[in-house]
Parts: sequence; C-alpha cells; structure tokens
Amino acid sequence: MHKKEYESELMGVSFPKDDPYGSLSMPVYHALSYEFKTAAEMEDAFCGRTQEHTYSRVTNPTVAYFEEQIKKITGAYGVTALNSGMAAISNIFFTLAWSGSNIITSRHLFGNTYSFFVNTLSAFGVEVRFCDLTNPEEVAARIDEGTCALFLEVITNPQMEVADLEVLGSLLHERGVPLIADTTLVPFSHFLAVDFGVDIEVVSSTKYISGGATSLGGLIIDYGRFDWSRSARLKSLAGDSPSAFHFKLRREIHRNLGAYMTPGVAYQQSLGLETLPLRYNRHAATCRSLAEQLTSLPGIVEVTYNGLPGNPYYGVSRRQFGDYPGAMLTFDLISKEACFRFLDRLVLIRRATNLFDNRSLILHPASTIYGSFTPGQRETMGIKETTLRLSVGLESVDSLLADIRQALGD
Ligand SMILES: *Cc1c(COP(=O)(O)O)cnc(C)c1O
Repeated sequence: MHKKEYESELMGVSFPKDDPYGSLSMPVYHALSYEFKTAAEMEDAFCGRTQEHTYSRVTNPTVAYFEEQIKKITGAYGVTALNSGMAAISNIFFTLAWSGSNIITSRHLFGNTYSFFVNTLSAFGVEVRFCDLTNPEEVAARIDEGTCALFLEVITNPQMEVADLEVLGSLLHERGVPLIADTTLVPFSHFLAVDFGVDIEVVSSTKYISGGATSLGGLIIDYGRFDWSRSARLKSLAGDSPSAFHFKLRREIHRNLGAYMTPGVAYQQSLGLETLPLRYNRHAATCRSLAEQLTSLPGIVEVTYNGLPGNPYYGVSRRQFGDYPGAMLTFDLISKEACFRFLDRLVLIRRATNLFDNRSLILHPASTIYGSFTPGQRETMGIKETTLRLSVGLESVDSLLADIRQALGD
C-alpha cells in the first residue's frame, strides 16, 4: 500500500536547532512569544524572510516539529496542525470558498461537517451541492465556474460509502477543481491519498493519531500538486508560491481564525505517530475478523464493512485500502429497542462517542450524533434506527466477540 518507509522517515526528522540537553524527543515549548537579538532579525522574521518563530498562534517549535514529521511521512508540500478536525475543515474552506461559490459534496458527512456547510458557510453566500459521489456523471453535471472544491470522506461515517477517488480526481482536474478528502477513517500510514489524486487531505488527528484518545487535533495536508492558477479565489497568488493554497492558509487564514495546535497536544500526537502503524494494523485486523464472525451471529440482521465480499464497495475499497479498510463497522439489529437492550448489556465495549480509542466504543448513531436531526433528514442521510456503530479498539477478538455474544442474549 504505502510506498514510503514510515518508521525511517519519521525517526529521521531532526530538530531545526540542537537541544542543549540532548533531549531525544522534541521538547514541549510552552512558549508564547520569542525574543530577537536585533530589530533587523525581528523584521526578517515578521516579514517571512526567515523561519524564526514570533508568536505561538502563528508557529511554535513543537508543533512545527510535528508538522515536519507528517510532511516526511506523506511527502506533502505543506502540513498545518490545528486544534481539532473541525478547525482543519473550516480553515480549508475559509481559504478556498468565496461568496457566490459552491462546494460539491455528499449528504453522507460527519455531522459537524454537514452543519458547517449547511448552517455556517451558507450564511457567507457559499452554496452546498449535495450529490451522489459514486456517480461521476452526476458530479460532472454539478460542476461550474463557481465550484471551489469537491469534498468527500474516503469512507463515509456511518454509511461506509466509498467513492472512486481516481475517477473523481481525473474528472475534477480536467475542470480545474481540487479534490479534498477527509481521511480520518484510514490513516496515512496505510493509505497515501495523493496516489489516488487527492490534492488536500484533512484528518481529525483526535482519532488514530492521538495515540488513544489523548487529545483533539486536526491536520491539513497539502500535496502541492494542484494548479491554483485555476482557482478564482487563489489565482492572483499562484505565482508567489508552489502552493497558493498553503501560502494563503499560513499567511492569512489560520492566523486570523486562531485555531493553531497547542504544543502539549503536538507532543502527545507526535508520540502517537510513532506507534500509528502498529496500532492501526491491530485495530484493522481485529475489525476484519469481527466483521467476518458477526455475520453468522443470530440476532444480527446485517453487518456493514467494506472488506466483506458482499459489500457494494468491496472492489473500490480493496483497490484503495487493501486488506484493511479502517477499524469501524456497523451492524443492524431488529429494532431500536433491540439496539438499546444490547447496548445496556455490554460490559467490555464502552458506550461512548469517538473513534479509534484503544478501547472499543459503540453508539447508536440515530439517537446520538444524529439525534437532533429530523427523521426526514436522517432518512436522506442514510441513518437508520436499527444501526449500531462500533469503533474497534486494541482488545482481543475473542474478548470482544464474547461481549457481543452475551449482550445479544446468547
Ligand atoms: C471526528 C471527525 C471529524 C471532526 O474531528 P474533531 O477532531 O472532533 O473536530 C471530522 N471528520 C471525521 C470523519 C471524523 O470522524
């Protein structure tokens, strides 16, 4: 899957300045402001002629180190770390969209992303065009001069839909539209989005990367491949930098929105990166094994997991994610009441939201994440009353299966 040597890239990142104590891990610089020897050096730093830090809303040494690690692992042009996945998504669209522009996306979106598009951005004159992203003709028909981007989740949560990235990427690039993908469900240690035509990747690092629910975080990974002279908003900057997007984001938007990652979080998430492939392989292998075994349990009506041969996205998922399409699955019981009874009887699996904690977590999406949506909205979003969403942790398959069996009333 992954063409780069993850560990050697990660461990090979050196500090930009020697640490006086020879610290092996990057120190946590809880510094806010940075002092200069001369006014001229200060001018150079503030005007972007040197890389010195000035103020920690803009850059911080510990956060910059974490960004550099991700740059090395992914081969990206620019990485920006923010204090949540939602901060990353909102920073992207405040950089790209303009009043009168439109975003092409699916109704199958993480709840807050949906609300950000429909409630927040619409107030600034940005139109959201929902369509079926697994239907390239429909996508092509919705693109016009005002389209600032297509946004999708590589595996939608909780419907588990998978669009063909290569097909969408080539269609979009012909029309001068960037492909932005939320890859939170399959980490970059396993799936390198740029190889499938993704221009900008966004990740909630709260999930796999934090190393077991230690902290909130978000990443914007710009592969520097898109020709921004084709973007109505960014074309005037396209001559100034290899990526007008990254330039505008770092010079203006992220400073103005003020949601940069904090140094303590960057330290925790940098440690998370060191164990990411190990943890992902374990989470994902357990998820695969559970999905296969759940299909034969009495009381379970249906199991949805892209790695099962009967799944409608099996082929495209296999091409994109190989044997390990994430560590989340959903299954349906006979009714909402059966779901609640099942949830209340679980012992090992925790009733909680979040994904890819070291503990397995379960919830009933219709009554929680989508609880404040109307039944009609839930229906158009594909959220059913009978579905449970399981985020698979690091416990053994046998213990998880035993808990599920006893909760089903075996
Ligand atoms: C959790 C999540 C987000 C939002 O991330 P936060 O870090 O909670 O802000 C965005 N997209 C997906 C797919 C998620 O699972």
